[in-house]
Amino acid sequence: MADENAKLIDRLRKAGFSRAAIEAAWPSWWTEDADKSPSGRAELRFALARRLGLDPRPLLGERVEFIWNDEAKFKHLSAASEHQKSALTSFGVSIGRLLLRATPRSGIRNVSADKLRDSILSSNAFVDLESLISACWALGIPVIYLRVFPMEAKSMHAMVVSVDDRFAILLGRDAQYPAPVAFTLAHELGHVMLDHLKGAPALVDVEDPASTSSDDDQEKEADQFALTLLTGGADREIKTNLKEFNAPTLANAVMRAAAQYRIEPGTMALCVGYQTGLWAVATSALNFIYSRSIPAWPEVNGIANSELEWDELSIDSQCYLKKVMAISDV
Ligand SMILES: [Zn+2]
Repeated sequence: MADENAKLIDRLRKAGFSRAAIEAAWPSWWTEDADKSPSGRAELRFALARRLGLDPRPLLGERVEFIWNDEAKFKHLSAASEHQKSALTSFGVSIGRLLLRATPRSGIRNVSADKLRDSILSSNAFVDLESLISACWALGIPVIYLRVFPMEAKSMHAMVVSVDDRFAILLGRDAQYPAPVAFTLAHELGHVMLDHLKGAPALVDVEDPASTSSDDDQEKEADQFALTLLTGGADREIKTNLKEFNAPTLANAVMRAAAQYRIEPGTMALCVGYQTGLWAVATSALNFIYSRSIPAWPEVNGIANSELEWDELSIDSQCYLKKVMAISDV
């Protein structure tokens, strides 16, 4: 039967799934003994199908068929194959389904960027990554960083998954500072609030929306939503009083102006970089604004770990989700 499993893994790999995704989805109860009975082998295939978002029946006959074919929206997609797109959508939707089962509904549906900003500012100095994540959870929208990627290349910036008219946000590429992640999250929240999915199971931002220009109207709208939420206006001009600046002087200026503008200093530096075209200077100003450079994902997944109602999930599903989130108490 080991041969049969090797063939099954091979088929899943050919269908576009990374080895890490298949390993994470492989059920923890599976043993050599389980593999000896037809029901054990069928159960294995049902579990893999559920977790990777595949149609289980063809998988029993060792064929891989995706449930959500060609229905997801892909932004800035360059060279991914149809298989890769389907694998990404299927994996994302199956993770979103688990997250939403363990996240209470909020009853609040569409909120404008202005209203959401006001509500966050009523108890925070500015809209930063942490307050934005809290707002998402309060809106019944789980946010996690994927630490297992469905595809071998980590070619996904972020995605929004829709399940039964609810939404989950899955972040992909990590950053060393909170400000760029806050922009990505605010942009994805824009896609949710502006109804950009419209029945699609997923919307995938393959590339970083902050560093790619796009003619896509939904991308522009999501960017505007993000800027309004984070800074108070999509075209809010930030006066630096600096005729010329370098990374340390820009860092200094935005840290002094943050309280007045009610914009998180790192976000303000990125806005100045965007407005002046001096993106590299703004990015290196982040080195001076934050005391240390650390990956964003442990904080994001740490909050998710405490927000999720784990008891709503079976032990096996908990185990799978924790592997995907790289939560260590598995
Ligand atoms: Zn987008």
